[in-house]
Amino acid sequence: MSKYPAERAQQLAKIVHREGARGAGVALVKQLLTRLGYHPAGGKTDLYSADLYDADMTRAVRLFQAYFHLPVTGNLDVQTLKLLRQPRCGVRDIPEGVDLKALDESLGNAGSETDDPFTFRFNSGPWESYDLRYQVYNGSPDLTTEVECIDAAFQVWAAASPLHFTRVNTADGADIRLGFESGDHGDGSPFDGPGHILAHGFYPRNGRVHFDEAETWRDWRFGDAGGEDLFHVAIHEIGHALGLGHSRLDSTIMYPFAHNGRHALAEEDIRGILSLYPFRAGASARATVVNLWAFAGGTGSALVDFGRRRRFLAFGQTTFVDALGDYDRDNACALDVFRVDGELVGNVGYGGDHLGTNGAPSNLFPGAYIGVGRTVQFRLSTFHSSDLSAYGSGCVLALD
Ligand SMILES: [Zn+2]
Ligand SMILES: [Zn+2]
Repeated sequence: MSKYPAERAQQLAKIVHREGARGAGVALVKQLLTRLGYHPAGGKTDLYSADLYDADMTRAVRLFQAYFHLPVTGNLDVQTLKLLRQPRCGVRDIPEGVDLKALDESLGNAGSETDDPFTFRFNSGPWESYDLRYQVYNGSPDLTTEVECIDAAFQVWAAASPLHFTRVNTADGADIRLGFESGDHGDGSPFDGPGHILAHGFYPRNGRVHFDEAETWRDWRFGDAGGEDLFHVAIHEIGHALGLGHSRLDSTIMYPFAHNGRHALAEEDIRGILSLYPFRAGASARATVVNLWAFAGGTGSALVDFGRRRRFLAFGQTTFVDALGDYDRDNACALDVFRVDGELVGNVGYGGDHLGTNGAPSNLFPGAYIGVGRTVQFRLSTFHSSDLSAYGSGCVLALD
């Protein structure tokens, strides 16, 4: 792993527990992996099986390691244990009902070209309305600005999506209710005192978001303020309340581990929210324009939903900036009409240095498209250089 200096690799690979081991330490880790969705709940819960490192435990550790891009061994090593103990969100990484065996098999392919890079793995369904109301029903004695901080966190999502948020003062009519709770507070997910689990948010249409009052909360909107960064944690938990699951990319807001000072949505966060809340074309609108951007060689994506099947023309326009100023002759960017109704449209270019084999998502798709469908997904991407930043607009024109 490039994350760790080579000289530490040996030390980090030190195995704490492996299959067949037994002890209170095993029971604690098993409990945690169960809470996060990696280990199946139920089954034998007597003390004899609870503290045994069995085959389910090996698979749980393997899934956790694969999820977070650690070397996959199924052994509880120092590196894995260290990540397990980091301060984080209490929401499960793997939701209930997911087939852990099938997931174990499929994670082996994660990161391959055929993986869809445009969706979070475990999003829930969205709210029906784009106009949501929220209430902050209590405060924290740690702060005087917690409400403004939560307001600002909603605005981070509003700025990147078609969503609109209004704070209300009563529970009546509030879609999302946020507050500070401690210990067992009656929702089946007790908090654990200072450290480790910091907060949790429930998916639509539950709407509850709770911050662990046992933490020392601080307002980090204007820089390092010590304690836990309420602004960062609030942006993350509101993501859950809007329907986003956890991301495996550690640059994202939806990464489960806390990162004080991180307040900007990453590309994947934006793709995630737009996959749940696409821009909607008005019933009478002839043209709808969406803006996309992609920094440092990444990709951007936006979805337009007509609300019904229509005949349409779609096209995109782009420009790019080379941050290094070393423009190469094959620097380029493209704004594809990538998918219509979820299906890849025919590719217009493949192969070469930058595109994949015929039919792969890494191909070039049409820059203009006339057809019939309900949803149109644009994709903005750059070729050749990881230093290119691209900017574009996608336009759809209804023709019927
Ligand atoms: Zn979370
Ligand atoms: Zn709670």
